[in-house]
Amino acid sequence: MEQPSAAPILFSSLNLDAQILRAIEEEGYTEPTPIQVQAIPHILEGRDLMAMAQTGTGKTAAFTLPLLQRLLPHASTSASPARHPIRALVLAPTRELAIQVEKSIETYSRHVPLRSTVVYGGTDIKAQKPALMKGVEILVATPGRLLDHVESKNLMLNQVQVLILDEADRMLDMGFMPDLKRILTLLPKQRQTLLFSATFSDDIKKLAQDFLVNPITVEAARRNATADNVQQSVILVEQDDKFQMLVEVMRSTNVKQVLIFTRTKLTAARVAKMLERAGIASDAIHGDKTQQERIKALDAFKESKITALVATDVAARGLDIDQLPLVVNYELPPNPEDYVHRIGRTGRAGASGEAISLVDSKEERLLKDIEKLLKRELPRQQMTVAPTTRAAVSPRPAKPATQPYHKKPAPVDDWFLKPYEPAPSAQKIEDQPAANTDKPKKQVGALLSGKR
Ligand code: AMP
Repeated sequence: MEQPSAAPILFSSLNLDAQILRAIEEEGYTEPTPIQVQAIPHILEGRDLMAMAQTGTGKTAAFTLPLLQRLLPHASTSASPARHPIRALVLAPTRELAIQVEKSIETYSRHVPLRSTVVYGGTDIKAQKPALMKGVEILVATPGRLLDHVESKNLMLNQVQVLILDEADRMLDMGFMPDLKRILTLLPKQRQTLLFSATFSDDIKKLAQDFLVNPITVEAARRNATADNVQQSVILVEQDDKFQMLVEVMRSTNVKQVLIFTRTKLTAARVAKMLERAGIASDAIHGDKTQQERIKALDAFKESKITALVATDVAARGLDIDQLPLVVNYELPPNPEDYVHRIGRTGRAGASGEAISLVDSKEERLLKDIEKLLKRELPRQQMTVAPTTRAAVSPRPAKPATQPYHKKPAPVDDWFLKPYEPAPSAQKIEDQPAANTDKPKKQVGALLSGKR
């Protein structure tokens, strides 16, 4: 196992091309992150790699930068598709992660003539064909959709030199193993394989043994550890009081944005709806939403048009939101490793963040499992719901949504709106519509900033 060097390392010492360095500089990165320092030299040497990297550690750049460097000799401005065969394949378990990885690749490759695109399920396969037909050096894909394209003869994988498995543990959890095995049979045996994962189970190690040749192992953080810069705590609260506690947490932490995790799609939709009713601009992102709806909600959140994004674990992977200050676990995940992924959504790239879990008596077992994985007890926080918060939010949970989620919410009761009385100018700012809806937003800021 390699340890990061103590001396500060500069990007310029990593043997990357000036045009790649230029893109990094434009992104404002001043020095490589530990996983980048450790992984880049080995990838440049062509070694297979098994990287244990937490979410938010800069792992996408850790594989993309040396990948671009290795593909540079093939860079071509020719319009001929024959000059742009797929030379690198990045597999990701979820659409969100695939989209995000490809965005990063586009960013880092903006000054070199290497093309990339992304294909994922849930959208029209035909719309993805033209980009493939034009030719791309780097393809990011979710496994199922990749195989659909193979079947439709939209692409060839026989010139792939580098295979990257991102969030490999999740790919196993989501049952992608048969797809992965099939994809492997389509790739040249002589290739470089890089495996990235935030958590490393024995299954993953076995996968690495089967797929990788004599790999170097690098680790940017302790096994299954959570980011040190994320302050974690637990609030014990009964199920019926969770929603009020959530609003209290948002109000007392005074954050501008919060990512909330639930276990089920239904709860995600319900909590988002209840937040909207309480005047907090929100949307939900989960497996029942179309790809367009998910992208729209995520973009609205990234652009700060909505305050709260409520997500299930499927959405947890691949979300990269700059400066996200707070993650709330409305319900604990059944799989303790998902806790690590969830809270990795805050405290990214060195920023500090907070993760608060609302735990009811039925979840104590899950909490124990998480603490066992983390090898430490999470601090319990005492918090009571302020009477103003209690009065402001509906004491009864809204009925589970049976109708489409973005149906217009019921008008907010007057008695709730009255105490806040925002100034007309404040009203103007807060009334900006959220991306997913054309209805006016309500007195969010008033509640969150504690104005009473
Ligand atoms: P990732 O772990 O790839 O999801 O990256 C998490 C975040 O770190 C992204 O927002 C990147 O833009 C950012 N990032 C990656 N490398 C660096 C770096 N060397 N310095 C600062 N930020 C970085």
